[in-house]
Amino acid sequence: MSAPTDQPVRFTKSFTRQEPISEPAIDKALKVLRSGRLHRYNVVEDEISETALLEKEFAAYMGSRYCLACASCGSAMYLALKSAGVSPGDSVLCNAYTLAPVPGAIHNTGARIILVEITDDYTIDFDDLADKAADKDVKWFMMSHMRGHIADMDRIMEICMQHGITLIEDCAHTMGARWDGRLSGSFGTAACYSTQTYKHMNSGEGGLLVTDDPDLMARAIIYSGSYMNYDRHLSRPDNTVFEAVRELVPNYSCRMDDLRAGILRPQLEILDDQCQRWNRRYQLLESRLNEIPGLTCPRRDPKEQYVGSSIQFNLNTDDKTVIRRFLDTCLARGVELKWFGNKRPVGFTSAYSSWKYFDNLPQLPNTDKILASMCDMRIPLTFDTADCELIAQIIADVAAQVLPRDPE
Ligand SMILES: *Cc1c(COP(=O)(O)O)cnc(C)c1O
Repeated sequence: MSAPTDQPVRFTKSFTRQEPISEPAIDKALKVLRSGRLHRYNVVEDEISETALLEKEFAAYMGSRYCLACASCGSAMYLALKSAGVSPGDSVLCNAYTLAPVPGAIHNTGARIILVEITDDYTIDFDDLADKAADKDVKWFMMSHMRGHIADMDRIMEICMQHGITLIEDCAHTMGARWDGRLSGSFGTAACYSTQTYKHMNSGEGGLLVTDDPDLMARAIIYSGSYMNYDRHLSRPDNTVFEAVRELVPNYSCRMDDLRAGILRPQLEILDDQCQRWNRRYQLLESRLNEIPGLTCPRRDPKEQYVGSSIQFNLNTDDKTVIRRFLDTCLARGVELKWFGNKRPVGFTSAYSSWKYFDNLPQLPNTDKILASMCDMRIPLTFDTADCELIAQIIADVAAQVLPRDPE
């Protein structure tokens, strides 16, 4: 018997279901657990900790001189800002389209945030950035490659150079991505990555900080809580660099442990393959979604070698009632979309207007306009290409049902 035809098909898989941790990573985890030595500095003679090895391997992957493993990307960003010299009352530039841990890391340093507009392709607005970077009080830029959208990095570096701005990259969504062949995170003075469950490698929580700057790394290692065990790091500057700062830098306890590092090392080996698997799903969804009247995926620069672990698109309406109906109808058919235009932040969405702990939030009309009709969808690797086809079909059906027609 066939299914009744008036029942629309539903998508039934979960948008938050990750792939299991691989067997080699589980083996590593068990080895660490059986040793009982989970703390990164709890090593027996001549033993090198999983965390120190992960740092060495990630630095090699990035082509960076140094890497520090941290408790989270948020703590890595905080340590990067502090180690780059940000002090209370300083001003830090940041794109207005990002996730809450980014303004949180800036707030944690006691600095002010200077929010910068985004453009229709979700990347930072160069004119607004150049204007705000020209202020002589502004010396840092925390650039978030939010949802994996990478701005023209040549132009970014030009602006930073011209105004003497220190760039720190938030690469939570661009681990493994490139701009014009060069890895995202290798442009700034420092870059931060997340290994939280929803990012490109999964250790539950975790962060990685990379830099080529010896002084910055020495400070970051001590800030992270080294208890002066910095000589147990493989990816670090010479001991003399630590000598100069070791008693001037407090311990903020932001370390990674060997269990997490052990889980991550085998994942790093297959990171590039995983990125390709995301992109096959992204590109299928993007081509299907772009055929649907009433919605548009952003234009992506051919120099941007992104990792499509999520997809965004804008609806051609700013009517909130219509947008809500679109989202609710998609959800009723099992397709979970996040909305950046929601008045109150829900789930993981974050609109800059909700960061009220800063007292200088500006009005950013273009960012407001874009966020108001932007939809956001995770693409977990537990979805196969048939799943992506079905999701696109459901979105097309719902769009035809509730969205206004494009003008003929
Ligand atoms: C997840 C995320 C972070 C923070 O990562 P945590 O490891 O959870 O602290 C920072 N920036 C962006 C854009 C993110 O999505």
